[in-house]
Amino acid sequence: MALVLTCDVEDWLQAYTQNCPVTRRVYNNVENTLELLESAGVHATFFVQGMVAEKYPDLVREMSDRGHDVQTHGYSHKKVCTLSPAQFKDELLRCKDIIGSVTGKPVIGFRAPAFSIGPDDTWAYDVLLECGFEYDSSLFPLKTRRYGFRGNTQPFSINRGDGVLFEFPVAVAECSFVRLPVGGGGYMRYLPLAVWKAIWKRVLSKETVRVLYFHPYDINPEDFSGMEEQVTWFIRFTQKIGRSTVKDKIRAVSELAGGNTMTMTQSYLSLTNQARTDIDTQKPNTLPSAEMGTRWCT
Ligand SMILES: [Zn+2]
Repeated sequence: MALVLTCDVEDWLQAYTQNCPVTRRVYNNVENTLELLESAGVHATFFVQGMVAEKYPDLVREMSDRGHDVQTHGYSHKKVCTLSPAQFKDELLRCKDIIGSVTGKPVIGFRAPAFSIGPDDTWAYDVLLECGFEYDSSLFPLKTRRYGFRGNTQPFSINRGDGVLFEFPVAVAECSFVRLPVGGGGYMRYLPLAVWKAIWKRVLSKETVRVLYFHPYDINPEDFSGMEEQVTWFIRFTQKIGRSTVKDKIRAVSELAGGNTMTMTQSYLSLTNQARTDIDTQKPNTLPSAEMGTRWCT
C-alpha cells in the first residue's frame, strides 16, 4: 500500500464561472495547504492550473522548494471533453512551459479539470503523449452525476500506438461489486470523520497505490465570503458543507498511511522501474495494461 496525496490548484470562483480573473484567494489557500502538509509530515503532487501558475509563479516555486511535486491541471480549467485536440494541445504546452520554467523540473503529469476524460475522449491520451506527458490521473473509476466511469481502480498503463501513458485512478472503496466514492472532494467533506477513517483504513489495507485528491479551498470554510452576488446561496451552502473537517481528514489519512506516502511522480517512477525489472528478469509484468481506451472499462 502507498498513499499518493494530490491537490488540484485552482481559484474556485474562476474555475466555476470561467469568467473572472484568478484572485488572491487561491494564493492564501495554497499557503495554508502547504502549512497543513508540513505539519502532517507529508509531500503531495500539486496539479496546478496554468492561469494560477502564470499569476503566482512564486507560489509554484514555493511548492517545489518545499519538496512537493508540481504537475499540470490544464491552463483555463475548461473540461477536456469540451476542447478540440488542437485546443487541448495548446493548453497543455502553455501550462507545461509556465510550470517547467518556474520549477526547472520535468512536467510529465496531468489531471483533467473535473475528471473530464471519458471513454469517448481517448484522443486526449494521444495528445498527452505528443506533448511529452508520461502519466495521467483523470480517471474517477465510478459513474457519478457529474463525471467518472467504471474503469480500473489500480494504476495501469494505456498502450496507444507509438506510446504508453500511465494512468493513476482516484481511489474508491470497493465492497463486493459496489464502489464508494471516497477519493476526495465533496465525498471527503460530507463523510463524518470516524466513518472517513474507517473507510480509509480499509482502502489503505490493499497492496496497491491509492490516490486522494483535494483542493486548497476545501480546507477554507470562509472561501465564499464576498461571493454573494456571483454565487447562489444554495451553491455556497452545499460547497461549504464539511470544509471545517477536511484538515483533520487529510491528517487522518496521512497517519493511517504510516509514512508510506509518496508523490505521484515518485510512484510513477517506482512502478515503471519495477515493471522494467520484471521484463528484464522475465517475471510476469505486475502492471495491468489496456490496448485501447474503452477496453479498460469494467
Ligand atoms: Zn480542478
